Amino acid sequence: MRARHKPWAEAYINERPDIVIPEPETLKGRWQEEFGNDRPIHIEVGTGKGRFITGMAEANPDINYIGIEMFRDIIVTAVQRAEEADKPANLRLLNVDAGRLSEFFAPGELGRVYLNFSDPWPKTRHAKRRLTHDNFLRLYESVLPPGGEVHFKTDNRGLFEYSLMNMTDYGMQLRYVSLDLHADNPEWNIMTEYEEKFSSMGQPIYRLEAAFRN
Ligand code: SAM
Repeated sequence: MRARHKPWAEAYINERPDIVIPEPETLKGRWQEEFGNDRPIHIEVGTGKGRFITGMAEANPDINYIGIEMFRDIIVTAVQRAEEADKPANLRLLNVDAGRLSEFFAPGELGRVYLNFSDPWPKTRHAKRRLTHDNFLRLYESVLPPGGEVHFKTDNRGLFEYSLMNMTDYGMQLRYVSLDLHADNPEWNIMTEYEEKFSSMGQPIYRLEAAFRN
């Protein structure tokens, strides 16, 4: 995702530590204290402009949500969106690289990982940057409980095929696969920015749910 440079973004984010947690490593193992309850915590890696994570937080008040996005000029739009939604009490954002996930979360601290329209990185030499590469799967596994799930949607057929192969090779169990999510128009589906764009162009949306071993 490309974003125009926003010189005001840094100050805007820093002034809102109740939404964008400034030093997330200090909350490792203590996220339920941060939320003030013992409800499950679900994260979205590569949150972008925040449509999905804010929509999920509003639709599911019994779940805590954390959106993770590494680019400040992009996540700042998610912060604005959270404010427009009156700052849901069950939503936080992290402006960090997900490659550092295990610095922020203790083993088993999270309940689920969402990946939505992750960058495809089609060149083999960039494969390690794909959010469904083994290195990332290992990270997700380290912060989820045994049997924890990753839910993934994309418009990119190549990345979807790679992810299906890689997750099953890793030993994950597929629980759900759709090659045209919108054909059934499930009422539980919260669209992301990219999903809106690509589905309005008539492109099918692929979706899977996969569980790590128990
Ligand atoms: N999920 C949003 C959507 O569906 O509209 C955004 C999709 S966009 C193609 C992918 C986003 O993932 C980008 O904003 C990118 O900066 C972010 N991203 C990619 N790798 C990341 C990483 N390692 N850590 C955090 N964010 C990452």
